[in-house]
Amino acid sequence: MPIAKLSPLLVNQIAAGEVIERPASVVKELVDNALDAGATRIDVQIAEGGRDLVRVADDGAGIGLDEMELALTPHATSKIATADDLAAIQTMGFRGEALASIMSVSRMRLASRARGAEAGGVIEASGDRIGSLAPIGSAVGTVVEVRNLFFNTPARRKFMRGASTEFGHINDMLRRLAMAHPSVGFKLTHQTRVTFDLPPGQTPAQRCMALLGDDVAEAMLEFDSDERGIKLWGMAGLPSLARATAKYQYVYVNGRPVRDRNIMHAIKEAYRGLIEPSAQPMIVLFVTMQPREVDVNVHPTKSEVRFADANAVHGQVLATVRQRLLATDLVPQARLAGGFKSSFSASSVDLTAAGEQPQPQIESTRDFVDYFKRMDPTQKGFIYQQVKQEMADDREDDQADEQRDDEPALTESIRPSAQSILQVHNSYIVTQDEHGIVIIDQHALHERMMFETLYDRICKHGALESQRLITPVIIDATAGRIATLEQVQPLLAKIGIEAEAMGPNTIGVHAFATLLFDRGVDPVEFIEALLDRAEEQQYSPSDEAALHEVLDMMSCKAAVKAGDSLRPEELGELLARRDQIERASNCPHGRPTTVRLSLRDLEKHFKRS
Ligand code: ADP
Ligand code: MG
Repeated sequence: MPIAKLSPLLVNQIAAGEVIERPASVVKELVDNALDAGATRIDVQIAEGGRDLVRVADDGAGIGLDEMELALTPHATSKIATADDLAAIQTMGFRGEALASIMSVSRMRLASRARGAEAGGVIEASGDRIGSLAPIGSAVGTVVEVRNLFFNTPARRKFMRGASTEFGHINDMLRRLAMAHPSVGFKLTHQTRVTFDLPPGQTPAQRCMALLGDDVAEAMLEFDSDERGIKLWGMAGLPSLARATAKYQYVYVNGRPVRDRNIMHAIKEAYRGLIEPSAQPMIVLFVTMQPREVDVNVHPTKSEVRFADANAVHGQVLATVRQRLLATDLVPQARLAGGFKSSFSASSVDLTAAGEQPQPQIESTRDFVDYFKRMDPTQKGFIYQQVKQEMADDREDDQADEQRDDEPALTESIRPSAQSILQVHNSYIVTQDEHGIVIIDQHALHERMMFETLYDRICKHGALESQRLITPVIIDATAGRIATLEQVQPLLAKIGIEAEAMGPNTIGVHAFATLLFDRGVDPVEFIEALLDRAEEQQYSPSDEAALHEVLDMMSCKAAVKAGDSLRPEELGELLARRDQIERASNCPHGRPTTVRLSLRDLEKHFKRS
């Protein structure tokens, strides 16, 4: 294709492609113009979601008859003249392309009467054709009608959605604009139905309430701050108002609605832990600063901005909103004892811990806030310090022991893992690893360790240590029992038990496993249980599985029990050896020895992520 200049129509249609995405964009451009013209009332009428008609009427300054045609020409604007003006934009529009773009893809009618002019004029324009100016009797102000949007660009027309979807976008757009201009009256009508009619002369807070609704209004907290040239004002919704989408976030920079990721992130951070991670808070936020500190000229539709100091904006938004939320007694009627009653109980997390005592539940916003207030580092430190002090005391004792018996191996192994170990209810050991909190069933772990140690010893030495009894222990037995005993004798020998028949109805125990003896295990009870099991399971003495079972029994009997109070060095040793033992995460019976609460789970649970 040879190089040729694009036709003016095509140039405008390409420009329209950037700025005019859908009917809502037309509304935005026309309302921007009305605002720039100093309108106090803006009336928007829509037919078929804007596909058929967008009509915007204002009572602003109007356009002089001699400028009507110029207004429709591309790059014709009354708003800036020099590059300096561009650096300090105060108006909504400045490119001079909206009217030219819109008319290139629609049938437009522009009627206006300038303030002080005796009469008004009307001009029709469509595609690249501008009709002749005709006089018209009208009030001061401007009325722009846009019909049959994209009638001559079928590809774009195809991308428009149904009337209700397009009207939804218009409604959302106009609300955003109305929020930022509380002094201006806004009326929106779809077909014949009035969607909203906001009076002029409202305060920002009144406008917020009017747009968000009375029920929501009482759950909004007003905030403001002014630091180093950045002014913030807004209303932050209680966490219970959080929604699934960011549709109810109204964010403005110097009066322009923006969708700035930096600011949205700061807002999300301010609500961190107060709302579900996927939820979006309801908020109205106005950021005001020197026009030179922010570049609004980034995108044709100007919903993106570029800050000279984005970090400062982020930090101030985060701090201001978060402080406002946390400083608020959000639900005064909530009581800490018993169940909570709250009018804002949308968020609920069951933090009830296992145990007889019902724990307070975080059920209301107030509780969340209390929770975060309680997350006082000095408090945490207090508990930690206490544990550390105890550990230090023990270490001193250990050092004394060391000097006494010159056996540092045990204490060495205690020390590194002694940090922050806690025994709770004399049953569980609580500690931490790099992934989070680790809760260990002391009995299950010790049992596992015993098993491994004993099994290892049998493999190495063939049998466990045995304690000879001064007088044999007598067990009453039937002939069948004695037969079983004789069958499993080699197995008993392996675990350090020496027992034989002493007459037709008696078993005599001559030696018992040292380990069990030391732990005070009753030989009669243990051997009877073992023989019961052997009969039940038809043990064959050479069977590896039988040895496992017997070692299980021993480990279980010898291990520390739930309820045994352990000295810090015992806790330390358990943990130190835990790392060395294979399969330490399950006891020999397959029950878990350890539960881990990962930091991730905790964050999820406390709604921090
Ligand atoms: P821009 O707003 O970027 O200047 P537009 O194409 O939207 O460009 O408008 C062109 C010019 O037409 C504006 O600069 C303004 O002077 C005039 N104009 C448009 N709409 C109105 C209106 N509603 N009231 C008064 N003047 C208007
Ligand atoms: Mg404009």
